[in-house]
Amino acid sequence: MGSPACRSCSGRSGNVVLDLGNQPACDHFPGCHDPGPDPSYPLQMWLCSSCGLTQLVGEPTVAEEPLGTEPAALIAQAGDAVERLATAGWLAGRSGAAEFGSPHGGSWLGLLADRGVAPVADGGPADLVIDSFGMMHNADQSIALAQRVARVAAGGALLLQYHSLDTIIRLGQWNALRHGHFAYYSTSALVGMLEAKGFSPRVAWRFDLYGGTVLLAASREPSVGVTSDGSVNALLSDDARLGVRDPAAVSRLQADAEAHAHGLRDWLVAQRTAGRSVLGYGAASRAVALLCRARVDRGLLPAIVDSSPSKHGLRMPGTDVPIVSPARLAMHPPQSVLLFVPDLLTEVRRAFPEVEDSGGRWVDAEALRA
Ligand SMILES: [Zn+2]
Repeated sequence: MGSPACRSCSGRSGNVVLDLGNQPACDHFPGCHDPGPDPSYPLQMWLCSSCGLTQLVGEPTVAEEPLGTEPAALIAQAGDAVERLATAGWLAGRSGAAEFGSPHGGSWLGLLADRGVAPVADGGPADLVIDSFGMMHNADQSIALAQRVARVAAGGALLLQYHSLDTIIRLGQWNALRHGHFAYYSTSALVGMLEAKGFSPRVAWRFDLYGGTVLLAASREPSVGVTSDGSVNALLSDDARLGVRDPAAVSRLQADAEAHAHGLRDWLVAQRTAGRSVLGYGAASRAVALLCRARVDRGLLPAIVDSSPSKHGLRMPGTDVPIVSPARLAMHPPQSVLLFVPDLLTEVRRAFPEVEDSGGRWVDAEALRA
């Protein structure tokens, strides 16, 4: 296989920075009685030398990501983001919004309508064009961004929200890499992509979601009635310091993958040896990659609880660990619940007090690193 063509600039020069070998499709959950083996596909991350966009190698394995349960953390963050936009004056004088949705949920349209910015009918130009975790699902990044900028009305703004590459590198979130997520944006690469479409970044806001999420506001005209501040330059400086365009810096994710898989496996073996009961929580895509990498089966982790009823009776791809309903936590609270989605911690502690009431604890699976 030759070098891939960049999904944004079509450049062919670049480096594979993370190679997870063959992985099952992380959103195809087989039935519990399906013995497998599950079909698997190469899973690699590539960094374009020309434009700096970090991206998935290869073609889609699945057409669409199914909508899972919308996490409360995502909904709360959307409210926080709209509040910050309003405070900074980005909603003043704007009447219409268009949104490119995400299979992750978290629509902003209702929140904006509550503040007088109404949804614009299909295809029409809008004062605010929103994309919150949507564009990464597009295989052709150049076309996807062109579609978004084309909908921005004169004097309007494009608002892009993404789980930033600097977070992925700083926190060693190697398992953010998954089939169906085609781009992993650094602010540095995204600013270049926007400039190629005639847009300039104006202001950026940071949020704690996923360990570090960025909302970037961009527009065509030099003035959109809102003054730019130093926030974008601060992120670009952070990116340069961290080396988001440097293959050596980004490929540290490979060592993170090894350390994380060993850490998880060692911890589960220690629990089993000590006779301590464990359940998982959150049948998320990042859990699929982690369990596969660590070769975890039901002998080490008897089940993963998930709040989405459509997953009950199914198992995790690439292993025999079944997905069960939250009723299991109430019936038999384990001594440890391994939480695969740390953003859910506040939500699950409140929803399942029986875990801690019976002396159990929540353990962050992201933190188990050798
Ligand atoms: Zn490129």
